[in-house]
Amino acid sequence: MRATRAIIHLGNLAHNIQAIRGFIKPGVKICAAVKADAYGHGAVECSKRLLAEGVDVLAVATVGEGEELRAAGISCPILLLSLCAPEEIEDAVRQDITPLVFDKEYIQLFSREAGKLGKADYPVHIAVDSGMGRIGCLPEEAGKIARMIVDSGNLTIGGTCTHFALSDGISQEAQEYTKNQYTNFLKAIDNIRSEGLDPGLRHCCASAATLIHAEMQLDMVRPGIILYGYYADEVDREYLHKLGTPLDLRPVMTLETEVSAIRHFSRGMSVGYGRTWIAEKDTDIAVLPVGYGDGLLRRWAAAGLEVAIGGKTYPIRGRICMDQCMADLGSGSPVHRWDKAVIFGCKADGAAQDADDIARLTGTISYEITSCITKRVPRTYIE
Ligand SMILES: *Cc1c(COP(=O)(O)O)cnc(C)c1O
Repeated sequence: MRATRAIIHLGNLAHNIQAIRGFIKPGVKICAAVKADAYGHGAVECSKRLLAEGVDVLAVATVGEGEELRAAGISCPILLLSLCAPEEIEDAVRQDITPLVFDKEYIQLFSREAGKLGKADYPVHIAVDSGMGRIGCLPEEAGKIARMIVDSGNLTIGGTCTHFALSDGISQEAQEYTKNQYTNFLKAIDNIRSEGLDPGLRHCCASAATLIHAEMQLDMVRPGIILYGYYADEVDREYLHKLGTPLDLRPVMTLETEVSAIRHFSRGMSVGYGRTWIAEKDTDIAVLPVGYGDGLLRRWAAAGLEVAIGGKTYPIRGRICMDQCMADLGSGSPVHRWDKAVIFGCKADGAAQDADDIARLTGTISYEITSCITKRVPRTYIE
């Protein structure tokens, strides 16, 4: 196996889900977001462990992601959070993937396919746009959509959901916006009930709202990022501690590699493309077989990425290449060729930075850091 690999700590995944459970009211179901290959951690392995830890439902973004789970023998309900193309609907229904619906055309397409495949009462969830501005019907249309589902012939209302735009913000404005969205969502539920119909499982909380708006958990919550050990933006370790509800999350992924060569650079020699870094004094440079083809983005170098080798940190010099990058060891460092170098992840693995640290350095969120570790990086699953 390549030296560059992502270690996936399934034990930390289990720890996180159990820690999160302390925030979830009894009887509330858990729908774990495993879209985008479980945020880069490997959907099949993570899903199996999450189900073993008592998760009820899995959420994906594409039909292909759902099919991958089914092919691995996973039989729990799978929710499709994004819309699929008409050509994918047959596969979605064949694989019993539950779509979010909110308009006549899409409802009819699913109903027709369910009829063709002889599936009666095929469950769909109604998506309500309560203020996210993405998919969903308006709250006052929810009853009409619910009626359409029931009248379509082959579908049944399995649930009703919405998604918050600002639930990971802690300002008063953000929290008020979330409360307002929640009120709109409840209006949608009332609107369905006043049609004499059952909204099914009501769900609206992703990670942040699950942790700080317990009253909004309703019948099911949909955590994602916290499963993988990272806080949802401003709802972070300090904020939860301040609220008196501390939460200890552990990063699940560690990205590591090995020093593939150590080369002595004398003053004036430059490192890599563009000659953006020139040695001001003699130094040793470690070559690392990891680059942007693995998800180590070029802009991380300029932002101040450091790798940890043997408990010390060393700055990346010059530009990150597609397959390699270079770290400055200085002179007389104890680093040897083939030593392990940790890019980010668990402190317990020797990482100096986690995905949140890199996200802060590079102006993004941890979600993007782990999701963008590419396919050519083998995932190694350990406890
Ligand atoms: C991705 C997603 C989630 C999970 O979000 P996190 O912030 O990672 O918890 C929940 N619901 C929907 C609709 C999503 O798209």
